[in-house]
Amino acid sequence: MNYSDKFKASINKLKFEGRYRYFNEIERCAGQHPNAYWKVNSKSSEIIVWCSNDYLGMSQNDLIIKSMIDSVKCMGTGSGGTRNISGNSSAIVNLEKELAILHNKKKAIVFSSGYVANESSISTLLNILDDVVVFSDEKNHASIINGIKKSGAQKEIFRHNDYNHLEELIKRYPIEKHKVIIFESIYSMDGDFGDIKNIVKIANKYKALTYLDEVHAVGMYGQTGAGVTEKMNLQNSIDIIQGTLGKAYGTMGGYISSSEEICDAIRSYASGFIFTTAMPPALAKTATESIKYLKNSDSERKLQQRNTAILKKSLLKENIDFLNNNSHIVPVMVNDPIRCSEISNILLNEFGHYIQPINYPTVPKGTERLRITPGPLHTDEMIYDLTISLKHAFNKTNNIVYKNYA
Ligand SMILES: *Cc1c(COP(=O)(O)O)cnc(C)c1O
Repeated sequence: MNYSDKFKASINKLKFEGRYRYFNEIERCAGQHPNAYWKVNSKSSEIIVWCSNDYLGMSQNDLIIKSMIDSVKCMGTGSGGTRNISGNSSAIVNLEKELAILHNKKKAIVFSSGYVANESSISTLLNILDDVVVFSDEKNHASIINGIKKSGAQKEIFRHNDYNHLEELIKRYPIEKHKVIIFESIYSMDGDFGDIKNIVKIANKYKALTYLDEVHAVGMYGQTGAGVTEKMNLQNSIDIIQGTLGKAYGTMGGYISSSEEICDAIRSYASGFIFTTAMPPALAKTATESIKYLKNSDSERKLQQRNTAILKKSLLKENIDFLNNNSHIVPVMVNDPIRCSEISNILLNEFGHYIQPINYPTVPKGTERLRITPGPLHTDEMIYDLTISLKHAFNKTNNIVYKNYA
């Protein structure tokens, strides 16, 4: 048996298709965001990060850093156990209370990450509902897809954001059959908004539960940063809201917020909630402070939105193709995996602009892109310089004929 060849072949396949993932080693220093250092061997060069999900720079916010330091000094580094066995700190209990208030729900439960929150909650929810069919948007995140797969539940995939297609599928089922509709408020790779209003209408008409991933929206939208549902006043129309503490809130962890019964049931049955070490109390305290901070401060959100508008204007002026959605995510379309990686390399090597290429399977083949997330701390000069650099990189890779791997 040659196991080694098997692994090598799997890697070579990815390399041949131009979708082998190279991880850039980055060193971020507190107070310098969006500047950072790119490390190659022992060399270090200064770069500007344009693809961070630390959307508002909260991971380097002075007050949040201080909260983390003070909390660690006070509570130590680890939680020391699962939620059930000695890990249920006051800090995590308070974080869950804060999250429930944020989303105007009765209860919230915290997981190790947004990924775990989705996979664990969805698979558990579907198992509890038993005779159930789940309706899932075709562009849902991998964590949602895996949660559904793990449950083994019957599933229907509806065309992206197409509530007519959703209705077409849902009306084939008897009214008494359990139904769950799962979708997102902002889709991470296209940056478009989920059609919450119309999907909620279908859910009400056919008596389905609604599960909404607000990962890219929490901290970013709504009066208190509670997401798109807050902005649209639809928090009470969604049964389960899922979010992360790892993106705009600048820390780590994931959660769902919902009714007393749903949270209690998932807490009691979800393996990924039960059999894992609880979040460190210092992290829970820091995440709580970050949520409170963004509840009261709008300036980061406003600046972020201003800079997004400026970047889009600049790209339009230079005729650089991007998906012009209304969110904070700006996907610049390259539509070829190798060219996409090459443009990213040119930006990084020649100009010090870091944008990770996004290739299949994260996005469909032929829609490879550079996903830009301008933040409140990018300057107008940086945005202008990025646009010119992008133009140069596009031109430089223009006359090379790439192989179509689709
Ligand atoms: C990032 C992401 C997640 C996972 O959240 P983490 O906290 O990073 O694990 C879930 N859903 C969507 C849509 C995401 O983009």
